[in-house]
Amino acid sequence: MNIKQPPRLRDEAQSGNPSVGIAYCPKCHSAYEKKSWKHAIVKARKLLYGPAKKNGNIKSVLCPACRMAEEHLFEGEIIITNVPSEFLSDLRHLILRFAENAKRRSPLHRLLKMERVGTGLRITTTENQLAGRLAKKIVESFKHHVTLNVVFSREPYEKEFVRLAFAQKGGVGQLDS
Ligand SMILES: [Zn+2]
Repeated sequence: MNIKQPPRLRDEAQSGNPSVGIAYCPKCHSAYEKKSWKHAIVKARKLLYGPAKKNGNIKSVLCPACRMAEEHLFEGEIIITNVPSEFLSDLRHLILRFAENAKRRSPLHRLLKMERVGTGLRITTTENQLAGRLAKKIVESFKHHVTLNVVFSREPYEKEFVRLAFAQKGGVGQLDS
């Protein structure tokens, strides 16, 4: 039986796809060239209309991040429980801001999903270290007002599973920025 392997971002980005020299993701418009995915509306346009296109060397290929989103795969997961309602909006904004910055730096570093689960949130990312960094950022931002129990796990399959649990320390303060 052929078991499908989830796409590995780093492997994919570093080793590249030998059958593809230059590619363009039709979904997010990232461009793959010189063995890495780059951001790229401008870059992709150049590729699409530039000499490579004329030579017929550019292919339309879903980038690993878009493929993960499509196949509901992820490498990093954070589950935050017991979020006090007064922190929920700040927390969401912090996560969205973090995700925006991460994606700006690399088109493959993305927040895949943020969903409400009970009194908390579940977040998935395309990359395992991204989940770890986001968790640290959340801890940093909320540490003066809440106690966070953080459990990092690297098992299995090199995914990162992070669990954060808010536990209030008496008074409620403002979010540190
Ligand atoms: Zn894409």
